[in-house]
Amino acid sequence: MGHVEITIHGPVTYGVDYAAVGCPTCAATHSHRIGGDLDDDSVPVSLTCVNGHDVPLPGEVDARELLFTAAMRAE
Ligand SMILES: [Zn+2]
Repeated sequence: MGHVEITIHGPVTYGVDYAAVGCPTCAATHSHRIGGDLDDDSVPVSLTCVNGHDVPLPGEVDARELLFTAAMRAE
């Protein structure tokens, strides 16, 4: 499947209290785009908000796991 760019509709949540990942620039939480490579784990996974800002993932979120989950949902 290689490189993918997937829109995630709805908040990205993490942790036991389902905290939402928000954009540090515009505070958007409702939609994100995740990009990365499903085959090559040396390619960093990127997450951007609905307005195109880079959104850092909290340390407890596995970026590749999130990418694979999004890819499966998108099929
Ligand atoms: Zn933003």
